[in-house]
Amino acid sequence: MTRQDTATHYSIDDMKALIETMQIYKKDNSGKGITRIAYGEEDEAAHLYLAGLMKEAGLEVYRDGIGTLYARLPGKDRSLPAVGTGSHLDTVPQGGAYDGALGVIAGFYALMQYKPQQLKRDLELVVFRAEESSRFGFSCIGSKVLTGKIDKARWEQNRDDDGNNFFEVLKSLGYQHDNLDNCIIKKDRFSAFVELHIEQGKRLENDKKTIGIVNGIAAPTRFSVTVNGHADHSGATPMYQRQDALVASAGIITDINRAACTEAVYGTVGTVGKLNVVPNSMNVIPGQVKFSVDIRGIDTESIQRVVQRLNNSVEKAEKDFGVSIDVQPISAESPVKLDDSICQVIESLCQKHDISYMTMLSGAGHDSMNMAPLYPTAMIFTPSVAGISHHPDEFTEFSDIAVAADLLAETLGTLANQ
Ligand SMILES: [Zn+2]
Repeated sequence: MTRQDTATHYSIDDMKALIETMQIYKKDNSGKGITRIAYGEEDEAAHLYLAGLMKEAGLEVYRDGIGTLYARLPGKDRSLPAVGTGSHLDTVPQGGAYDGALGVIAGFYALMQYKPQQLKRDLELVVFRAEESSRFGFSCIGSKVLTGKIDKARWEQNRDDDGNNFFEVLKSLGYQHDNLDNCIIKKDRFSAFVELHIEQGKRLENDKKTIGIVNGIAAPTRFSVTVNGHADHSGATPMYQRQDALVASAGIITDINRAACTEAVYGTVGTVGKLNVVPNSMNVIPGQVKFSVDIRGIDTESIQRVVQRLNNSVEKAEKDFGVSIDVQPISAESPVKLDDSICQVIESLCQKHDISYMTMLSGAGHDSMNMAPLYPTAMIFTPSVAGISHHPDEFTEFSDIAVAADLLAETLGTLANQ
């Protein structure tokens, strides 16, 4: 792919160096990997560093009331909606160097491949805040604020490890905190939005593809299930007198797995990843079990069939084991369909440059989920080695990154001339 001769000559090697520089912004005493928690000291420093770098590069830089970083490259007609790109810089504790940061850095690289007024529309990079749910218990908070999905009452309830909620943390850092309405971006701000991200799965690697064109994002439907039985002595209680909460749970968990396997053809998955057994003792019949259910997919009806199976299984377990079961919905976000015409632009560029690609769904949530209902949105995935993410071993080959970053640049350029 031919790179434009830009005023700043921002090269693929400059991007590689920036990927390494960003890894300096992590908590030192937190063990392996990158720990850059949302609104933590290192996250703030990373944002300020990038803001400075982008200003120096000649972009129009702006930070909104909650510290979202925007950098714009002006096009010929400034009255037109811009073409956007971006991702996040915050990580989970002991996360990797690529989740989020890669989309930000590649986005910056992409903008730098063009001169001011070279394209018809502005290009704009957005660095979203607090994408990971590790600190506040909610994911994609920043992109929710920008798109007007501010859930003040719920967000106030959740607190970080220091006992502060999202708004208190904003206040302590001198950000806007009482009314975030002026952080909401206009409906005509973007004509298109494209986020580059690591896959966080193994499909690209397994299929030996360099690029994933993401045409939909699966959303989690989650429940917290509490099974109340009766804790009794494991030696003195005959089998017919038991109300074993764990045995009842085991049947439900197996049913969720079976239901999701049946729905696999629709891309639906179901997981019970957290189990809390009370009293969790070798010689006591489990009296209470709490577990989480996480169902994801892109097909709402398919997800609903798994939920129905969960409900049927709960009813059956209550009868069979004499337990009472409470199923609390935690979240039910709608799956998001991404924009076909942007996917087609990316696909034709892949064909033009002979890049191996596949069209796929994203199993993980991203800021693009919040952008998609307002702006035509798509995502470009790069392979994750061994599918590892949210882990110090998270890695993407630089040769793959280079292809994806150039593809992003050309995609944005094509969309900005439309
Ligand atoms: Zn991410």
